[in-house]
Amino acid sequence: MTWLKKLHNQIILGLILGLLFGILSAAMGWGQFTRHWIGPFGTIFLRSLFLIAVPLVLASIITGVASLSDTRKLSRIGGKTIAIYIGTTVMALIIGLVLVNLLQPGNGVPDEVRDQLTAEYSAMAEARTDAASESMEDRGPLQAIVDMVPDNIFGSASSNRNMLQVVFVAILFGIALLMLPAEKSRPLLSFFDSLNEMVIKIVELIMKTAPVGVFALLADTINQVSQNDLNGLWSLLGALGFYMIVVLLGLVVHVGVTYTSILKVFTPMSLKRFFVGLAPAQLVAFSTSSSGATLPVTMEMTEKNLGVSEEVSSFVLPLGATINMDGTALYQAVAAVFIAQTLGIALGLGAQLEIILLAVLASIGTAAVPSAGIIMLVIILQSIGVPAAGIALILGVDRILDMCRTACNITGDATVATIVAASEDQLDAAPA
Ligand code: ASP
Repeated sequence: MTWLKKLHNQIILGLILGLLFGILSAAMGWGQFTRHWIGPFGTIFLRSLFLIAVPLVLASIITGVASLSDTRKLSRIGGKTIAIYIGTTVMALIIGLVLVNLLQPGNGVPDEVRDQLTAEYSAMAEARTDAASESMEDRGPLQAIVDMVPDNIFGSASSNRNMLQVVFVAILFGIALLMLPAEKSRPLLSFFDSLNEMVIKIVELIMKTAPVGVFALLADTINQVSQNDLNGLWSLLGALGFYMIVVLLGLVVHVGVTYTSILKVFTPMSLKRFFVGLAPAQLVAFSTSSSGATLPVTMEMTEKNLGVSEEVSSFVLPLGATINMDGTALYQAVAAVFIAQTLGIALGLGAQLEIILLAVLASIGTAAVPSAGIIMLVIILQSIGVPAAGIALILGVDRILDMCRTACNITGDATVATIVAASEDQLDAAPA
């Protein structure tokens, strides 16, 4: 049983047992029991990760930025990071669009299935559409930049949806500390340094409970998705199976081709080390459906197992968790075209190019929390002239795809961190 000593194997075991328990619970009608007695352990795990996300982002970015030798280095690393983030997101979108146009999953959906799904999920779809229009109210083109700048630091630190504002504050603090004479900045720097160490310790403690947390999250999610009706779930999976396969295929191609080739070309990292080292973070992302909650784990694995320096990871990863969501962008492209195909709306090249532009922006603006991607999808649909109520078609399986796209999102962040570290000569390429 030595394989069970490895954390990622323990998490995989928790995940499989959670999946089986969720199915069993739905089949036996144990929904209430699972929700009240198993689910809370998952919620505690998720909340503890979220709890440390804001202090971690603050402490790690401030110490990371302040330890750079000058602000020029910050703009060099920052420029490189953002350019690669946007490049990989565009690549993800192209893969999604090519697959969905080639395989046309929406053309095979029978009319009665379409009508049934639309009726069943219309109330849920309306709630999402309302949320989207609320966030779009009175927005000019520069609103996304305005949203990045908080007017109250405690206000932004009080919601995990505002992580980008926390990143902004942290970078600002770091730059100011960098510009101060050493004797003035020292007390604050050692405070944040110590805060950073404390948070890392807490991450280690939380990760010890990860197998149980993942078990509970999975059991509860399957329980909720199936709504105590396993037959309903199977027929939903049957109806939307082809659409799901196209999204999953896209994610696999993006991770298996885009990420692995840029890792091969730009870094000396062996792919085995990369994927085995990152596995615990991918599994946590899969179970929590939140790259924000997974951030502490992504940072720990990237530094400890992949050998990326703290200076690079503490800047690149929090930024990536908030603005780089390749999996989400790919899914949005496939979902938008799938909905249009199902509703019999033809999307020309112009509309598809618009999807690329909007999804890149959406990936920056999407909060790193579960189901955030679908709200942005509503905005994309509205812009390309597809009825937003069409999201009713895909809502039933969205949570399952959310898990997969979140795992892809954090893999993208770690890939870019590894590449930036290699280019800055800050990658410890020797196996840990
Ligand atoms: N759950 C995703 C994330 O946190 C965002 C989304 O696609 O809904 O990365």
